[in-house]
Amino acid sequence: MASSDEEEGVLSTKLHKVAFIHSEDYVNICDRLPKVRGRAGLTTSLIESYGLLKDRNLSIIKPSRATDYDLLAFHSQEYIDCLKKSTEIEDDEETSQFGLGYDCPMFEDIYDCVSAIAGGTIAAAEVLKNGQASVAINWQGGWHHAQRDEAAGFCYVNDIVLGILKLREKYNRVLYVDLDLHHGDGVEDAFSFTSKVMTVSFHKYCSGFFPGSGSCLHVGRGKGRYYSLNVTYNDGITDRPFVEVFNRVMSKVRAKYKPDAIVCQCGVDTLAGDPMASFNLTQFGVGHCVKNLLSWNLPTMILGGGGYNLVNTARCWTYLTGLILGKALPNDIPEHENFLSYGPSYQLAVISGPQPDLNTRDDLQNQLKKALGNIKNIL
Ligand SMILES: [Zn+2]
Repeated sequence: MASSDEEEGVLSTKLHKVAFIHSEDYVNICDRLPKVRGRAGLTTSLIESYGLLKDRNLSIIKPSRATDYDLLAFHSQEYIDCLKKSTEIEDDEETSQFGLGYDCPMFEDIYDCVSAIAGGTIAAAEVLKNGQASVAINWQGGWHHAQRDEAAGFCYVNDIVLGILKLREKYNRVLYVDLDLHHGDGVEDAFSFTSKVMTVSFHKYCSGFFPGSGSCLHVGRGKGRYYSLNVTYNDGITDRPFVEVFNRVMSKVRAKYKPDAIVCQCGVDTLAGDPMASFNLTQFGVGHCVKNLLSWNLPTMILGGGGYNLVNTARCWTYLTGLILGKALPNDIPEHENFLSYGPSYQLAVISGPQPDLNTRDDLQNQLKKALGNIKNIL
């Protein structure tokens, strides 16, 4: 799987005290989420098969359901009420007004599920706030498209916004980094008027591609002007150029913004083999980005997000869990209850595909120039 460089890179990561949001009940309820049904269990069982849940630097944190009070920090009462009722009612005008239906279908126990996810990310914020851990991982969180009173793009509740608001109770400046294929619109919108949360989203941007926002020209508004940053790519981007641009942009963000805490959404619908069929990344590219952020040695929350090739998502998030713990994992997947899902390779590595990279050198330079120009305006 990994070249010796990769392995050395992994092992040279400083050891972190890691909190891992997990319980059997939490995995079971998150497994019901439409579009990624079963992904929570698949991911957790692979992480467990490598022995990572017993690592001495990892503590398991059992999350509770978010209460109405917790959800109201961002969502509207009307929307919460609708989520509560939606197990009883069919698709109708009321539910569609809140974005329920189409790509956010209603399902049994929807409220139980979304309050569990929100509770998971809030628990991650709490352990960072109280110093129990320096890195908190919630692979079941990361639903960046949900708006105050609207479900969107498979996201029902914006656990990220809730987690950032919780971190803001202690940390003055929070940096949000979004690695998902799609623009992190719900989080950007929530904080577009403030300089206290800076959002940086790296994503695909082209006409007709969901959610349609996230042009590199959008930089935030009012007091939040220049505190929203968007870096966009065309299809086919591979690890090397993605990481190069990420490193250049983030080193400038670090120097200018000087955050007190970081939240990183690790959506992996960017991986080769994802049904989104857009980017061509592997877990090593995503891993380099995460490792860069970890090297800042700030309280860091690591979240999931997109990832619709479920086995590749489980592979990548397992690799990242190992990386965060400073463990290079053997490429052969250990025997466990879901072992057969990883055939025919039965290996941890996601291999990049043959698709052409439609990002020219000029495209990348252009993105970089615009991003660095915007970052100069940060106070
Ligand atoms: Zn996505």
